[in-house]
Amino acid sequence: MHLIQSWKDGHSGRGSSALSRRAYLDITHRPVRVALTRLLLGEHCLAVALLRHPTRTHRRVERHDRLCRFGDGAVEDELHALFTCRGSEVLVQERDRFWKELRDRGLESEVRRLTRFEGGSRAVALLTEKVETATVLAWFGDKVLSIFKERQIYRMY
Ligand SMILES: [Zn+2]
Repeated sequence: MHLIQSWKDGHSGRGSSALSRRAYLDITHRPVRVALTRLLLGEHCLAVALLRHPTRTHRRVERHDRLCRFGDGAVEDELHALFTCRGSEVLVQERDRFWKELRDRGLESEVRRLTRFEGGSRAVALLTEKVETATVLAWFGDKVLSIFKERQIYRMY
């Protein structure tokens, strides 16, 4: 299930209409807007997406076996990559920068709380409600995906 799908299933009402969640479409820099859209739709280089389908040489991998290429044993999905993976020094540094950007906008503690206690998809939903924070998430997400892309994906079988 990709991130947008999990918002729809996760909650409805309380000012969280589908419309208000589409502010990210107003991000002006096109490549960044496209990168965020793909991240939200699950069209990206992470194992959770890439190993979903069989190829000529490999069969489909079950979701719980689509493990992080940095070897931490977690499922390599969007929320792991964005908020919890510490597999690479560069990734950790980029995430520190991301938190600082949110701190400057007074949103750090709320977003951290959402990632810890209510599932990261709600944090992503909050960030994409406004174009300004959606842009911060978009740049960060784009960097995160490029960091993952630099390393070869992990396959158990
Ligand atoms: Zn990881």
